[in-house]
Amino acid sequence: MMMLTRKMIEIRSLLQTIGQSESLTLPSIVVVGSQSSGKSSVLEAIVGHEFLPKGSNMVTRRPIELTLVNTPKASAEYGEFPALGLGKITDFTQIQKTLTDLNLAVPEKDCVSDDPIQLRIYSPNVPDLSLIDLPGYIQVEAFDQPTELKTKIQELCDKYIQPPNVILAISAADVDLANSTALRASRRVDPRGERTIGVVTKMDLVDPVRGAQILADRNYPLRLGYVGVVCKIPHESRSLFSRGSANILNAITKNEKAYFGAHPEAFGEDSQVTTGTPNLRKKLMHVLEATMSASLATTSEAIHHELAEATYEFKVQYNERPLSADSYLAESLDAFKHSFKGFADTFGRTEVRQIVKRELDQQVMNLLAQRYWNRPVEDMRPIDTMTEAIQDPLSSLPKADPENPLWHLKLDASLSTLTKLGIGRLATTITAQALQESVQGLIQGSTFASHPFAIEAITQSSENILRDLSFDTSDELEICVKPYKYRVEVDDQEWRRGRENITNVLKNELKDCENATRIVEDQIGGRRKTKDVLAFIDRVRKGEIVLEGDGVGGAGGFSAALLEKGREAVFLRDRADILRMRLAAVKSKQCANPKNKYYCPEVFLDAVADKLTTTSDLFLDAELLSKFYYQFPRILEQHFRQMDESTIERFAREDPKIRRHLDVVKRKELLEHVLKEMEGLRQLEAREKRNFSKG
Ligand code: GDP
Repeated sequence: MMMLTRKMIEIRSLLQTIGQSESLTLPSIVVVGSQSSGKSSVLEAIVGHEFLPKGSNMVTRRPIELTLVNTPKASAEYGEFPALGLGKITDFTQIQKTLTDLNLAVPEKDCVSDDPIQLRIYSPNVPDLSLIDLPGYIQVEAFDQPTELKTKIQELCDKYIQPPNVILAISAADVDLANSTALRASRRVDPRGERTIGVVTKMDLVDPVRGAQILADRNYPLRLGYVGVVCKIPHESRSLFSRGSANILNAITKNEKAYFGAHPEAFGEDSQVTTGTPNLRKKLMHVLEATMSASLATTSEAIHHELAEATYEFKVQYNERPLSADSYLAESLDAFKHSFKGFADTFGRTEVRQIVKRELDQQVMNLLAQRYWNRPVEDMRPIDTMTEAIQDPLSSLPKADPENPLWHLKLDASLSTLTKLGIGRLATTITAQALQESVQGLIQGSTFASHPFAIEAITQSSENILRDLSFDTSDELEICVKPYKYRVEVDDQEWRRGRENITNVLKNELKDCENATRIVEDQIGGRRKTKDVLAFIDRVRKGEIVLEGDGVGGAGGFSAALLEKGREAVFLRDRADILRMRLAAVKSKQCANPKNKYYCPEVFLDAVADKLTTTSDLFLDAELLSKFYYQFPRILEQHFRQMDESTIERFAREDPKIRRHLDVVKRKELLEHVLKEMEGLRQLEAREKRNFSKG
């Protein structure tokens, strides 16, 4: 018959993994007793080991769901805390220590917690049993115990002693049964005494005849009866073995046999009372099996019901789309790789060219500003010191003078600065940056967007690859552009293109400048007011007005803030003038001819920038882009494929939507699995019944 219990206990454990539903469980034996009633001693005698937390101040604060698994062929005995993943623990003092730690972890203010500790013990010496050890009832509160502790423990016990659980009520023989807290609690929920087993401990402490009377109790009759035990571990066996490693069952049994055997008049065959731990174990096994069997139909019904609900949810909410953490990861990765491929197809040499050229255009503009149009344009000094600055922004600019050797020098120096800018590093860096930004964009548009963990992994991968590739690429590109550092020839066509491009760049700059001007004008309070402010500042600059102090408190009826804005407007106006002038120069006839490069530095430098860009985009396309496009998906694949199961699970569950979907699928699978097991159980039951009737 024992196979049945084993199977039912397995099913009970399976149900525990599904959830905390009240109906979705099989009964267990709930052990209650007041403190010092000998509750721990009884449990330890059943297990054969000391493993429960001890100590004068030690109060069990969490229920312990104890599953005993008989392993007849094994020689080793060990425990497991399935929720903690600590593996097999063969040293029972270690189990005791873990239980103590788990108990102490319950905050003092909470008193007790109803979150059970799951502990499984595998041994050839234990019966297949499922027991729940509850905190002991407190009768007399110690001065340092919170007053609610007593009530909280009571509430916790009440929750567990509900039907169909079996109650194992522990009382000590040296306390009047009428005063037994355990029996009183059991009476409240099981008034007819149908599912309570009475255990009377410390039988050795009372007169044998009196002891036998207690066991045959007529005042508190229990259908499942009383069992008398002596569970105190005999002294000699305690000192014989080191604590925790020895099996104490034999010693206890021997001790009990000696005690009960010595009093045949009270405990003999004819006495009709049940004594001894081995008998208690047998009774527990039979009662548990019978109770579990009786509950099977109800539980099975509950499982069917839950399964129907899960199936419905799966169908309606998820359209029966199967999902596992693995498949979710694989799908996400495929989709991401697909979008990356799409990106790679659209981001090539042309796009690199645009990026690099735009950057070099800016570099050319800066160079020109520095070498040619080097008015102190950032001049934002207080108004009075401005008087020494140029009066007319254009009149103070150098005049183009291609005959002057200085102008040759200027262009040669500009060219040298441009070609020695470190194009290799610059172009590589901005291209790598653009790639990195695009990867970020792809992540945001993918399912990975809701997975911080994946975002980190993908970002890191692309960063690493790009960094590694960038080292060599930038050095090699620098070598490619080296010839330009010595000599650059620009042909007619290149000149024409340069002229066209720089015209556009200047136009755009001018547009930006005009837009900025409009904003400042608005801030000042309109075009007319701006004109007034500008007129005032111009007069200060020309020396027509001498400011007192430095104009900090405002001047000419304008506040300091307004003058500040006015200076910004002056700056923008001067800048726009210069840009217009340069634009006019570039458009002039002289600049149509490549021979006039000293007269038209803009066009020449742009043509050079164009050549540098052509070398760069060709090289970056071949070296950076294609290598990145090849390596990145492979590295990602590698990275995600080597993740272990729990990491994949954690990853998938980061997304609440996926988590719910996974939960439904898992719940459905588990329920189906349990039902299958139940079916197996029914067959086993039928077979055993047949064998029994045959025998
Ligand atoms: P718990 O607080 O209900 O878990 O009680 P314990 O199992 O810790 O036992 C309380 C005390 O009673 C301990 O000192 C035990 O050694 C002692 N004890 C337990 N069972 C027996 C027994 O059958 N006979 C005797 N003499 N002492 C016992």
